[in-house]
Amino acid sequence: MTRVWITRPLPGPVLDAARALDAEVVVREETGPLADAELRRALRDFDIVLPTLGDMFSAQVFADVGGARCRLLANFGVGYNHIDVAAAHAAGIAVTNTPGAVTDATADIALMLMLMSARRAGEGERMVRAGQWPGWHPTQMLGLHMSGKRVGIVGLGRIGQAIAHRCHYGFGMEVHYTSRSEKNVPFPAVRAPDLMALAEGVDFLVIAVPGGAETHHLIGEDVFNAMAPHGHLVNISRGDVVDEAALASALTEGKIAGAGLDVYEFEPQVSEALLGMEQVTLLPHLGTAALEVRTDMGRMAVANIAAFLNGETLPNPV
Ligand code: NAP
Repeated sequence: MTRVWITRPLPGPVLDAARALDAEVVVREETGPLADAELRRALRDFDIVLPTLGDMFSAQVFADVGGARCRLLANFGVGYNHIDVAAAHAAGIAVTNTPGAVTDATADIALMLMLMSARRAGEGERMVRAGQWPGWHPTQMLGLHMSGKRVGIVGLGRIGQAIAHRCHYGFGMEVHYTSRSEKNVPFPAVRAPDLMALAEGVDFLVIAVPGGAETHHLIGEDVFNAMAPHGHLVNISRGDVVDEAALASALTEGKIAGAGLDVYEFEPQVSEALLGMEQVTLLPHLGTAALEVRTDMGRMAVANIAAFLNGETLPNPV
């Protein structure tokens, strides 16, 4: 019988859908990523694996398991930089993801980080909780007004466009972007000639590209040098797209005013330097953390497995 391994506990309706498949479904109860031996076991002992963020299916893992039993990695999540897709394909293993299901929730978190960073929400909350709020006064905790400002979006894909939509319609912001290709969106959006030109002219720089070798440290010292000192950086993509040490230096030296991060270069470790800064908002990778979103993501992953089992075209191949 076909064996399916789900590498994390998932919302009930997703597990119900998985258990209704014509397959033996095994659910791993641990919440942490697969260990080295488990990664290899996944490819050896199961026909289909439903992995997620942190399950590092590197080229070495595929190489170590010659003649893998596994034929499909149905990833839970749109980002799949933890899977070496070329190595998977070379081993005859298909990979799918869950685009779309995550878009609005992640864009919402980007807007939350923009506001929290600009309006000093984390700092203010900490002050109130510490019992150190002296009461309102006209020059207290002045932040950056967000409405009407210019946002630069690095990567105007699904999530980037949803962020741009919110910025334009919700906050009357001017949208600029970089992308590999020109985008047609139903509101004004200016494509910058390159990343440096984008960084120079914006009040908020929001990162929405996929992770991976091509975008590793895309945002580094040169970008922070180009940004305005009142500018804010927001990253909801993948942690290593931003050079975290360079970000900490830029904040310490006042090259930029603040940063809002949902993801980290060495996740779940966060650099001590950033932890000590008031002008940084740090969220624990909350992008898609809502029950209905995680349920939609899971259903999408299970739909890819169902298509595979039925010999149909995979809905979301990568
Ligand atoms: P998407 O639709 O594929 O959009 C990615 C965008 O980045 C596209 O505009 C693409 O340009 C651009 N891009 C790709 N590679 C690039 C490069 N090397 N240099 C410059 N631009 C590049 O993906 P999405 O659905 O918006 O998701 C984006 C990423 O967000 C995911 O890969 C994931 O890592 C992350 N994410 C994070 C969370 C969270 O919880 N924080 C949740 C969901 C997703 P073209 O369109 O021209 O190809």
